[in-house]
Amino acid sequence: MDESTSITLNDTAMVVDLTKIDDCIDDFSYEPKKEKQEVPMYIISDEEWLRSLPEKERSWYRSNVTTIEEIETRTIVCTACFKQTNHKKLGEVSRHPTLNVPLCKNCKNFYFDGAWTKDEEGSFEFCGWCAQGGELLLCAEKNCPNSFSSRCIKRNLGRSSLSQIENCDDWKCFECKPKQIREQRALYYSLHKYWQSIITKEEERKGRGQQLRLKGGRKKSES
Ligand SMILES: [Zn+2]
Ligand SMILES: [Zn+2]
Ligand SMILES: [Zn+2]
Repeated sequence: MDESTSITLNDTAMVVDLTKIDDCIDDFSYEPKKEKQEVPMYIISDEEWLRSLPEKERSWYRSNVTTIEEIETRTIVCTACFKQTNHKKLGEVSRHPTLNVPLCKNCKNFYFDGAWTKDEEGSFEFCGWCAQGGELLLCAEKNCPNSFSSRCIKRNLGRSSLSQIENCDDWKCFECKPKQIREQRALYYSLHKYWQSIITKEEERKGRGQQLRLKGGRKKSES
């Protein structure tokens, strides 16, 4: 089988597969596995993030993108504090450092503020999503120190997903199995596209302003 055939087949399989979350042991593990021990110190750029994704994942975001018009009129809440964000203003919403979902400025600062201490078993004592304490569910992946608060899971994925995760002895976290939060990630991707369109419009407007000034300048020198 050549490469193009295998990609097409996988894509078809994925479209069918992605219609529901039916299992706590998720198979959406096409992200490169890494041995994660510490939290990142900064957030890589959106461009760098998108480049790092497998084509399959990028194309899923492309086909599940929320339109610019819809983003314009929608209320976007932070996935960590659930407060409404001012997403139309550039820089008010960031990409979560490990989950790549929308995060407000306050929650981003809070994430990087203070030490990420671990318990005796080596799991983080703070939620990998909101960076707060609380009732934490631990990742079962070997070498993954992540834990996630039941509050974040319930708010973002709903009560039934939370109880599925609670009842699963082998739950792999959102960083290890990002398929679980693909919708939140697709929303970030849509925001990224929206901001790009704002920047493009702004540049066009500036360009037009420049042309008008040039015309005006000529007029003045003529008179
Ligand atoms: Zn927030
Ligand atoms: Zn949390
Ligand atoms: Zn994990």
